[in-house]
Amino acid sequence: MNYISTRDTGRSVSASVAILQGISEEGGLFVPEKLPSFTPKQIAALTGLSYIGRAGVILEKFLTDFSETQRRTAINAAYESGFEGDSPAELKKLPGGRYVLELQRGPTCAFKDMALQLLPGLMAHAAKNVGRGGETLILTATSGDTGKAALEGFRDAPGTKIMVFYPAEGVSAIQQLQMATQEGGNVGVCAVEGNFDTTQTGVKAIFTDKALAERLNKRGIYLSSANSINWGRLLPQIVYYFSAYADLLSLGEVELGERVNFAVPTGNFGNILAAYYAKEMGLPVGRLICASNQNDVLTEFIDTGRYNARRPFHLTLSPSMDILISSNLERLLFHLLGGDDKALSTLMTELIENGEYTVGAEVLSELRRSFFGGSCDDKRTMDTIKQVYEREGYLLDPHTAVAMAVADDYAAKTADSTKTVVVATASPYKFVEAVTEALTGVQEDDAFLALERLGALTGLPVPPPLSELKGKAVRFTQRVEKAAMPSAVESFIQ
Ligand SMILES: *Cc1c(COP(=O)(O)O)cnc(C)c1O
Repeated sequence: MNYISTRDTGRSVSASVAILQGISEEGGLFVPEKLPSFTPKQIAALTGLSYIGRAGVILEKFLTDFSETQRRTAINAAYESGFEGDSPAELKKLPGGRYVLELQRGPTCAFKDMALQLLPGLMAHAAKNVGRGGETLILTATSGDTGKAALEGFRDAPGTKIMVFYPAEGVSAIQQLQMATQEGGNVGVCAVEGNFDTTQTGVKAIFTDKALAERLNKRGIYLSSANSINWGRLLPQIVYYFSAYADLLSLGEVELGERVNFAVPTGNFGNILAAYYAKEMGLPVGRLICASNQNDVLTEFIDTGRYNARRPFHLTLSPSMDILISSNLERLLFHLLGGDDKALSTLMTELIENGEYTVGAEVLSELRRSFFGGSCDDKRTMDTIKQVYEREGYLLDPHTAVAMAVADDYAAKTADSTKTVVVATASPYKFVEAVTEALTGVQEDDAFLALERLGALTGLPVPPPLSELKGKAVRFTQRVEKAAMPSAVESFIQ
């Protein structure tokens, strides 16, 4: 199967090229030329397989230029160990009838591990498939979760180096420590003066610096990104929607063919887009509930068809969703426009030039057939954490709490009684200050004390990757201005 660019469907590349390149040269994103489809019988057959087996079945349809062995090696390396529990994606049923799909059991305690544990293996095989030798240098700007998950995924990966930049102001204490103590012989971490926008702009400038690229290429070093617009990050996410449905079937919670809704805490639109692909591939999905925090650009878009990024930017308790330009939405629009690359390009140009665009009535009604959008502020996020803990005995992180609150709004507004799975994206311990305050009303500024307190209060074990941070040596203290980022990269690869 080949992949085409959303902005120029004449460009068609193999899965290996799509994954290595990350983004198409003219700025478009790679999408599958044609989605594979699954019959109810094929979906039922997934119940007999482990998560690894299910991943094999899905990836086989998409990575057609990979060998069976390549796919199997990469999947095993990603999911065989490193995730706590019986499966990397575990389904829990709450007393009130909701389901929670737990995706936060990986080495960095956020759902990004689901993709970033697999991506390095896919990239290594892809480089072989296209006959590219040399070394890959992964550069990533992070607002917190992506950087750590990428570092952990790529650490000591052969033929690869990875450098992560994070805003000096703008990641949580735990997130900062997670990165500063990162182990591995091929990793670099650097703080940048300023906020996430500054950091991201700095990384983008490095990617478009032709002179730097030439110097690197001469030495056999190729720049690449672990950004969520890479097809290699989306694909692993499709698997867990199929897996969740198979688990519901196994548990006798749904009949084959019965639809379920998914509520997804959304930022860059990658996670929920994977759910949309699963639906288009034949998974019985009703509504996709797109949950936002106070940065509610997607809520307004799904309500009105107008995407307006010119609005105040809010720093919230769910920082991984503090986004005004949801990059992966481009892929959904391309599909809703019936694959019209010209129309899509026009919208994307409007977004760059005017900060907004509006879709036509037909696209809007298609959008609303599959999606419901809702948002939730910090106060309600805190209340939801407390209420769900007290009523259901289940502890949510702030991102997942946003999805839970919006799922409640959806049910109240529509009277839709379809069974609903809330997608959990982070361990509550990763955002321990906010979660502790939600439960107790008391602020605890020392993150390690807060971990202990929350553990004692709830009796839930602190995930080892977080409790073990305390004894770890800090390896990275470099802090630079944006202008010094390229030289930080060049000294890193010396
Ligand atoms: C990245 C992230 C999100 C948002 O996911 P998208 O795929 O960008 O929509 C939500 N919650 C957590 C904890 C995250 O790290």
